[in-house]
Formats: sequence, C-alpha cells, structure tokens
Amino acid sequence: MSAALLAPPAKDIGCAEAPVLRERGQREVFCGLTGIIWLHRKIQDAFFLIVGSRTCAHLMQSAAGVMIFAEPRFATAIIDERDLAGLADANEELDRVVAQLLSRRPDIKLLFLVGSCPSEVIKLDLSRAAQRLNVTHAPGVRVLNYSGSGIETTFTQGEDACLAALVPEMRPAATRSLLVVGALAEVVEDQLRRLFEALGIGPVTFLPPRRAADLPGVGPNTRMLLAQPFLAETARLLEARGAQRLAAPFPLGAEGTTAWLQAAATAWGVDPTLFRSVTAAGEARAAVALARHRDQLAGKRIFFFPDSQLEIPLARFLARELGMVPVEVGTPYLHRQHLAEELALLPAGTRLSEGQHVDRQLDRCREARPDLVVCGLGLANPLEAEGFATKWSIELVFTPIQGYDQAGDLAELFARPLVRRTRLMV
Ligand code: SF4
Repeated sequence: MSAALLAPPAKDIGCAEAPVLRERGQREVFCGLTGIIWLHRKIQDAFFLIVGSRTCAHLMQSAAGVMIFAEPRFATAIIDERDLAGLADANEELDRVVAQLLSRRPDIKLLFLVGSCPSEVIKLDLSRAAQRLNVTHAPGVRVLNYSGSGIETTFTQGEDACLAALVPEMRPAATRSLLVVGALAEVVEDQLRRLFEALGIGPVTFLPPRRAADLPGVGPNTRMLLAQPFLAETARLLEARGAQRLAAPFPLGAEGTTAWLQAAATAWGVDPTLFRSVTAAGEARAAVALARHRDQLAGKRIFFFPDSQLEIPLARFLARELGMVPVEVGTPYLHRQHLAEELALLPAGTRLSEGQHVDRQLDRCREARPDLVVCGLGLANPLEAEGFATKWSIELVFTPIQGYDQAGDLAELFARPLVRRTRLMV
C-alpha cells in the first residue's frame, strides 16, 4: 500500500465534515479504574492504590480476576462511610496503609493514589494526601494521584488521567526526540522501536515508560505521536510543555500503521525510498494476515456503541482494509483535532454519534439489524439474547492490536463472533 494511496481523493473527505449526533443520557460504560488493569502491567515498578469503596474493590477483582499475579501491583484501600469529622482519621488510615505497603514492597518506586466516586472518597483531598506522603517517602518513592471516578472518567480515560499525572514529573528536554504517547503492549513497542530505528528516527521514548526512572523528558523539540485516541488531557499538557503533536491516523491496520510512521518520517525528513523499503515487508505480512479474514468480514454491517474511544479508528480499519460497512460509529467523546485524519478516511455516510443515550442507541441498533455489534459487557448479553452477534470492546484494549504484525489478530477479533454464530446456526 503506497503512502500516496492513503490520501482520500480530492473531493472525498469521508466523514471530516459529517454531522455528529450528540447524545446525553444513561451511560453503560466502565469507569476509569479499569485502566489500572493494563497500566499496572505496563509500568513495572508502579503500584495503584485505589481509594474507594467495596464496589470499587469488587469491580477490580472481577475485571482483573484472571490476571492477578502472585504480587499484584494494585489494591483498594476501602474507605467506609464517615462524616467530615472522620476525615482526619481517614487521612491517618491512608498514611498507615501506604507506610505498610511500602515497607512490605520495596520494589515500588511510583505510587498512584487513585480516586473513585463514592461521596466519602470525594471528600478526601488526594492531591494533598499525595503531597504529604511524598514528603514522608521521598526520595525512594514518588507519590502521585489521579481520579478514576465513574463521574469524571469512562473506561479508557483512566489511562489519560494517569498519564496526565505523569506529565508534570517529566524533566525538561532540549534535544529533538520522538515521544510515543499511550500504553502499548511491550511486543508492539519493541516492533515500533525497530521500525523507527530502521528509519533513522530517534531518539524515541515512550509514555508511560516501563520503569518509573525512565520517564522521558519533554520540551519544544519534542515531537509526539499519539498511539491511542483517548489521551486528550495528556496531549494538552504535553503541548503546554512545548511538545508538538504529529497529526496522523492511529496505528491500527497496515494503512493506519504506515500513515502513523509516515507522520514521523516526514518530520524527520526520511528519504521516501528508505521509507518504502522499511515499511514494505510489514505491509506485505499484514496483507497476507488480513486476507484470511476478508471473506468473513467484507460486506458485513457493524454498529459501534460508545465505549473505548477506539471506535472511529477501528471503523476506519474495518471499512478500508476489510470491506466492512460501519452503520453507526458511537464514541464517548469525539476529539475533532486528534481524529481529523481518521474521520477523513471513514466512508462518507457513516452515522457518527458522541456521548450516550443507551435506549435510543439500542432502538437504532435494533432498527439497523447489523451483522455485528461492538459494545460494553453490560449490553452484550441482552443483545446476544436478541439474536445479535457482539464483540466486547474491552477486549480491544487488553489485546495488542497496533502495528503491522497485529493487523491479522485485530481482524480476527471481529471475525470470531461471526464464525461462532455461523457454526451455531449450522
Ligand atoms: Fe463504581 Fe465509582 Fe468505584 Fe468505579 S469508581 S467502581 S463507578 S464506585
């Protein structure tokens, strides 16, 4: 696939100027605490202490149950109901829990206090608690805080809030570098690092880093590529530190990956011939892997409920590389700037919706009778019972899906529910 093919024809601007149905109503999404499930595996010497209720503890246990290691890197400090007079005790209790944790776990170098939404937690000032605990536990441990509350954040915004908390910790950097922003599986990170190296682009750093001490620097010579579409606040803070965002689609599928790499290659003035020679093999591997799923997916109609903010890039990939037909693409938030390149590539006529009014969306979905519905866990079972094939959007965040070598796996995630349904019907 050549880079020239990536630009939409002059008159075809896809969904760049398409109207967006804005909806406000009941939401069916996980809260930002969920982000801890992938973030705790990414930053290997960090610990996430949720300051929350029993509900928060249960959510984390059931969502992460299958992934807990012998020494988990997250836990919940349960703050029971108490009045304002009891807040001093709550702070003391928090200090005691943190001291106990850190003395038992000297491997922890970065501690996040993660806020939640129960009213007794909202009354606690976690940023002051973090400052206080920093004084006690410096220099060995850095204590930061962010909110994963369901009132303020959805599912993937927990990662945005966590990375935004790291930005003020980044040292100033004067030299030119590429900063890749967004948690990626290590296998994906290593593949991308090799591609940048082959292109002569560097130094390349990643946010979040694998270890707290490797937190990258940032400054006016930093060029950043967003690896995830849900990092509005993190990007805003990095821009305020001088970093310049390289506009690109997201690295999903062969086309997205090439265009994403191209943005960095253009900024670094990489020779087009070198670019083609470095990216050709990955594109060819992806083409072979995608061909295996095209028969199953081409022409199938797909409906996205708003959940992960990955919906628009996924719809673009499925439409352009596998011939699927996006009927409606819902997203919790539509960041026009960060998604401009994606929207231009999305087939014209795709219905876009932002925010959630679950009953109306369900009505539209039933009316459209799509072949596949991408939605949260709460909607999947009822929709399956009504005869729809569904895909859980949370799986798309837990699975390595970015880059050339994951394109086939990404297609398979959508093909699998259709194959299963065909088998059930035989
Ligand atoms: Fe529920 Fe709020 Fe806790 Fe999330 S933070 S589990 S929405 S109580």
